Amino acid sequence: MSKTIVLTGAGGVLCSTLAKALAKEGHKIAVLDLKKEAAQKVADEIKGEGGKAIGVMANVLEKASLESAKEEVNTKLGPCDILVNGAGGNHPLGTTSNPFFQMEDLKTSAEGFKTFFDLDPKGIEFTFNLNFLGTLLPTQIFAKDMVGRKGCSILNISSMNAFTPLTKIPAYSGAKAAVSNFTQWLAVHFSKVGIRVNALAPGFFLTEQNRALLTNPDGSLTKRGQQIIDQTPMGRYGKPEDLISTTLYLCDDASSFVTGVVIPIDGGFSAYSGV
Ligand code: NAD
Repeated sequence: MSKTIVLTGAGGVLCSTLAKALAKEGHKIAVLDLKKEAAQKVADEIKGEGGKAIGVMANVLEKASLESAKEEVNTKLGPCDILVNGAGGNHPLGTTSNPFFQMEDLKTSAEGFKTFFDLDPKGIEFTFNLNFLGTLLPTQIFAKDMVGRKGCSILNISSMNAFTPLTKIPAYSGAKAAVSNFTQWLAVHFSKVGIRVNALAPGFFLTEQNRALLTNPDGSLTKRGQQIIDQTPMGRYGKPEDLISTTLYLCDDASSFVTGVVIPIDGGFSAYSGV
């Protein structure tokens, strides 16, 4: 059955791939993004392949923007059946320069060098807002369409950092832990009205957000990039396409008794102790 599926952050790498895969299943797709052109480009690509899609500007941090996006979705595609909360990311001001704090860090005065003590509340706030509030607010707006209807669900995007925090990125790790926790909370909260709530926890996917952290300008891996591969039993980065089958399953009635789960898609990263 064709459903109306709203994806936030779908002008980006991972969720544009999911939007296209869901469109191929015959669903009507609302591609939402802060960047209108990015959203429109993905919608146009879907239409070019014979699918049904609209590109809509929406800021996941502004209720008014989400309300007007919902109005457009409802008018053009009908009520929302599925919401994929894909918008998310990190901020450099919430990131330390080194994985471990050491005595000599106190004497380092290099431009841009950041210890735990230099973390800027603005960077922490940005990251918590984008990932956590940016999941909660679109859910408040779009889940109203789902109440009392059948086959509706919400899919959040968490991360490996939610299980065990990665070094250097305390804000992003905490914010994604909040997304996982909220996924469970909301699954319970909505369980009596038939709305399922689940999440993907992608491992490491080489995208624009993390490319500079994981690869050198010549394409070789940075030390951190190599550490990730060494810690991933399957020995490679994820490809956006690796997220498709789990997404189709969680958005389909095939998973009708599945709610409140956070599924790692990580080549075994979260199962491996490193020894
Ligand atoms: P991306 O940067 O390619 O896409 C994110 C999109 O979100 C961008 O198009 C951006 O314009 C949009 N966006 C940013 N702020 C917004 C706002 N306020 N309102 C609406 N849209 C906004 O990132 P991606 O790698 O495709 O990541 C998608 C999701 O997956 C994110 O939640 C990310 O945290 C998560 N994730 C990514 C990885 C990875 O390895 N890339 C791993 C785990 C989780």
